Amino acid sequence: MTKVGIYVQVPFCQTKCTYCNFHTGVVSSGRFAPYVDAVCREIRGHRALYRGAGVELPVEFENAAVDTVYFGGGTPSLLEPELLERMIAAIRETFAADLSELTLEADPETIQAAKAAAWARSGINRVSFGVQSFSDKELVAAGRMHRQADIYRAAGILRAAGIKNISFDLIAGLPYQTKESWRESLEELEKLQPEHVSVYLLEVDEGSRLGKELLVGGARYSAGAVPSDDDMADFYETSCEFLGAAGYHHYEISNWAKPGFESKHNLKYWRREPYLGFGAGAHSFSGTQRWANAHDAANYVAAIETGQMPVEQLEPVTRESALEEELFLGLRQLDGIDVGRIEREYGVGLGTRFGPLESAGLVERAGDVVRLAPARLSISNEVFVELMK
Ligand code: SF4
Repeated sequence: MTKVGIYVQVPFCQTKCTYCNFHTGVVSSGRFAPYVDAVCREIRGHRALYRGAGVELPVEFENAAVDTVYFGGGTPSLLEPELLERMIAAIRETFAADLSELTLEADPETIQAAKAAAWARSGINRVSFGVQSFSDKELVAAGRMHRQADIYRAAGILRAAGIKNISFDLIAGLPYQTKESWRESLEELEKLQPEHVSVYLLEVDEGSRLGKELLVGGARYSAGAVPSDDDMADFYETSCEFLGAAGYHHYEISNWAKPGFESKHNLKYWRREPYLGFGAGAHSFSGTQRWANAHDAANYVAAIETGQMPVEQLEPVTRESALEEELFLGLRQLDGIDVGRIEREYGVGLGTRFGPLESAGLVERAGDVVRLAPARLSISNEVFVELMK
């Protein structure tokens, strides 16, 4: 039976972080319920909506079972639990659901005991926490609402509510971050023993307030205190050593897990397994097509209310694009890719692509398996650029 993941986008935040220019809005809470109603309508009516928009679900979807759900954003933990429950109910009513992993992204300051207990009752069994840093100075500069004390408080509440799978996100490259403060964040993280850790290198969107300041100058958003690329690479390498020594398995460029706690949902993205995205800006992959919903939440709600599927992008997955994805997404996993399988499946030879990268020490080959060289993980983007030439 085909297993499908579901992603639900909740595009609302309490404030805008200085580095972020995602399509998320700081809106009145009165907008939450109409948005959730639209998402439920999209979930329940997805087949008819897809047909109207040119999306063709392969026949395997007829008997597919949903095994993972991921509420991402934005800040989905801002929603009242009852609204999250409505979306979970719509999923359970629409699909054969055998949910082994139901993740909610949460910001520490939004976590309260009553909410966390309601999340657990509704089946949420994994919380992905936007920690970003344990340094209050860095959190303030980044425009985050929480402080170190909130992280400790929120982690305690989640454990008390029975959430046994907690993931922490850290960002390497925030203004004022130093080698010492980065190590302190890792040490604080270890005290709380999350089951999963993601480390992202700061990507400053040019349209964000920090991005504009980096381009034209100014002191309001601490652009002058953003660490150098070399420092960021150093933070990343420190994470590899520290988290490895702390018992975390490094399974994807940006992700570490205690044994058995790798993200089932996110693995689908890297393994090119099917997932359906609901909500404004959500992306979907059926195996034969990729599509994305309209990013603007108000346009999304208006379209769904009039029975239209607000698809912004719809692309067939060609043989060439599937091959590129196999390489690009597959190599993100530290186990590497089975080049023999890919060569047989796509009828291509990959020796000329990987030979020069192997000679340059960027990838390693053992039999049919090719993986990124561990010492080159911090420059993986450069390796991918070379690979796609
Ligand atoms: S970084 Fe996350 S929490 Fe901050 S504004 Fe962007 S989406 Fe919202």
